[in-house]
Amino acid sequence: MVSEKMLALGKSPSKIRDLFEYGNRRKAEIGAENVFDYSIGNPSVEPPEKVREVILELLSTSDSVALHGYTSAQGDREVRQSICDYVNRTHGTSLTADHFYMTCGAAASLTISLRALCAEEGDEFLTFAPFFPEYRVFTESVGGSFDAVPCDPTDFQPDVEALRERLTPKTRGVLINSPNNPSGAVITAGTLTKLCDVLREKSEEFGHPIVLIADEPYRELVYGDVEVPYPMNYYDDTIVCYSYSKSLSLPGERIGYIAVSDRMKDERDVYFAICGAGRSLGYVCAPSLMQRVVSRCQGMTSDVSIYRKNRDILAGALTKYGFRVVQPDGAFYLFVEAMEPSAEAFAERAKEYELLLVPSDSFGLPGFVRISYCVSTEMIERSLPAFEKLAKSYQK
Ligand code: PLP
Repeated sequence: MVSEKMLALGKSPSKIRDLFEYGNRRKAEIGAENVFDYSIGNPSVEPPEKVREVILELLSTSDSVALHGYTSAQGDREVRQSICDYVNRTHGTSLTADHFYMTCGAAASLTISLRALCAEEGDEFLTFAPFFPEYRVFTESVGGSFDAVPCDPTDFQPDVEALRERLTPKTRGVLINSPNNPSGAVITAGTLTKLCDVLREKSEEFGHPIVLIADEPYRELVYGDVEVPYPMNYYDDTIVCYSYSKSLSLPGERIGYIAVSDRMKDERDVYFAICGAGRSLGYVCAPSLMQRVVSRCQGMTSDVSIYRKNRDILAGALTKYGFRVVQPDGAFYLFVEAMEPSAEAFAERAKEYELLLVPSDSFGLPGFVRISYCVSTEMIERSLPAFEKLAKSYQK
């Protein structure tokens, strides 16, 4: 006997993973160079050189028993202190090391936070569509209920009025993700201010705080002089779920953190609930070598100019071929309108040209495809004729 819920989850991989596996089979059949795989968000840019230097230095100079040993459950104190100092310096916050909990990336940060906040079966967590599909899985696995309200389809800014209508006394938290996967949109300071005003108004009306959960693995991946406002500076009841998967190109190393605002209501209880949730999920003592590595690489980012170049080539060419593209300010995704009502059918047709594009239904907004441009610039250039043929096939 096994859990029916977990069995169903295990047997139905995400659309993204499904397409990624299809791509691997197809590459084996016709050669990797003939498949244009835009399915998965695996960083294509190397980590900063400093990451390698720090790893080598730690391995050659540290006491290896201590280096590879358990740290405190919530993460090594010095590591948390150095990350805390960086966050305070950068964002003007006044956090302490005891507002930080080291995790195995944003997925763990989110699951732990949701588990800590979900007080009763059926407590509600809301986000904006389009959203990272695993939000639903993470929320439902801790007994919460999950729903999404729309964004403005022209610029993918959250529709704050739609949120106001949808909030109920059962709402425990609202998840935001900026820069966004899959749209690439960055929530502006103006939108965030309005959003936080609504959360304050409704928290007061319902008599309990609605927590803002900010999922921030793409914070540093922005192009030009775009600013990503720091949510804790806009709203007291905020938890930031951070990851180094994308900023330092370390997704396989599984390292990130949770930061609990020092201004949250009952902030000590929230922090201890985070510690308890981490414990109950077995997410204690995040990878110890990586904790030390990231603590010494604060403020560094992989070379985002490569992603920017990819974005510009792809967005420019696709627009020329007749696709409707909303220019993304960050992350490494283009969200492009499908050329027929069904995104699934459109993505199937794209496969005929060996283009692997993720249909948007599981992101909560039908009618689009997501194109992950964290691939080589050379592959993007080779794939352009295939995009042109795909567009032409609809113009006949
Ligand atoms: N949140 C978003 C929006 C993501 O796109 C991803 C990964 O792609 C995650 C969370 C999970 O990130 P991590 O690899 O740090 O667990």
